[in-house]
Amino acid sequence: MLQSLIDFVRDHYRTNDFIPLHAPVFGGNEKAYVGETIDSTFVSSVGAFVDRLERDMAIYTGSPRAVATVNGTAALHVALRLVDVGPGDYVITQPLTFVATCNAIAYCGAMPIFVDVDRHTLGLSPAALAGWLEAHAYRDDNGHCRRREDDGVIRACLPMHTFGHPADLDGLVRVCHDWGLALVEDAAESLGSTYHGQHTGTFGTLGTLSFNGNKVITTGGGGMILADATLGERAKHLTTTAKQPHAYEYVHDELGYNYRLPNLNAALGCAQLEQLDVFIAEKRQLAADYAACLADSELTFVTEPEGCRSNYWLNAVLCPDRQRRDHLLQVTNKQGIMTRPIWQLMNRLPMYANAPTGELPNALWLEARVVNLPSGTRAAPGIVDA
Ligand SMILES: *Cc1c(COP(=O)(O)O)cnc(C)c1O
Repeated sequence: MLQSLIDFVRDHYRTNDFIPLHAPVFGGNEKAYVGETIDSTFVSSVGAFVDRLERDMAIYTGSPRAVATVNGTAALHVALRLVDVGPGDYVITQPLTFVATCNAIAYCGAMPIFVDVDRHTLGLSPAALAGWLEAHAYRDDNGHCRRREDDGVIRACLPMHTFGHPADLDGLVRVCHDWGLALVEDAAESLGSTYHGQHTGTFGTLGTLSFNGNKVITTGGGGMILADATLGERAKHLTTTAKQPHAYEYVHDELGYNYRLPNLNAALGCAQLEQLDVFIAEKRQLAADYAACLADSELTFVTEPEGCRSNYWLNAVLCPDRQRRDHLLQVTNKQGIMTRPIWQLMNRLPMYANAPTGELPNALWLEARVVNLPSGTRAAPGIVDA
């Protein structure tokens, strides 16, 4: 059974060498655009490609504004600052995520609260969120949501769209509205994924993207904040050292960050964004082929939730139990096919072990069963030689 999966992967990538989980493909204008930044000397914090990437990304996602950052974690940090997450606050998130989601909360001096995910989305569960809030939170006279145990303010909710599959956004929007929580979406993995036709990252007050080397498109390192016009302006200000425009004086009017994306990286991003739809089409085809290959096996292929169109950034399967998960990981990795288990739950990590945590039956169930399969885009023959 595993052999037919291994044969399928080798056949798809047409190689007997090591097959990584994900690798970037540079088949378009990458060299030309990066070369332009070098020729112009504008490789750093100022340059036309940063403006262009922000404009193109706003148009692509349908967000009023997009602000480029040096990485996705920085984008999350500033997004949380923009909804006033500060020292002593709480932010509700899912335990099943990449550590950056929680680190951004901690950078604000705030503490995560871990609430369970849904099995069918792998993302934060609106029912678990509402259930936790009813049991552990109240709204004060100013409308702030507070934790009963210590009256700490729960400022925001930060769901993550796991492996590109959108979380249940209608439900999350509703619960956040009912409880006065700011909704910030960690859409680092889900660029191009839509929920009822609308791009992930555009449902909350703010959304963030990542262009790290392993994401669906890359700038080397980079990220983006999706926002409305007002918050977008604030995001730009905070990420560029909070400098006021002036002909020659250095005027900084608040504590800002040097989080801007260099023009060199933005150039790579502009070329990658031109190919995003092609990458996603290939990923979706690969996902369909995996699903067909595994149809009669004991592995369940993870598919996009109803009403969603996923970018299928990382393909995933559910194993019947932990033992068979371990077997799949051992056999494939030994044969040079990179597979990985889903992340350890965040509440197990030493720095988040003391964070408030709800009941996590689904996260625990998934943690024991989910394995990611190779998901990189192949260089499309027509693009490579362009
Ligand atoms: C990749 C990723 C980020 C951001 O990562 P950076 O490497 O800082 O760009 C944040 N959250 C999740 C869930 C991610 O997968």
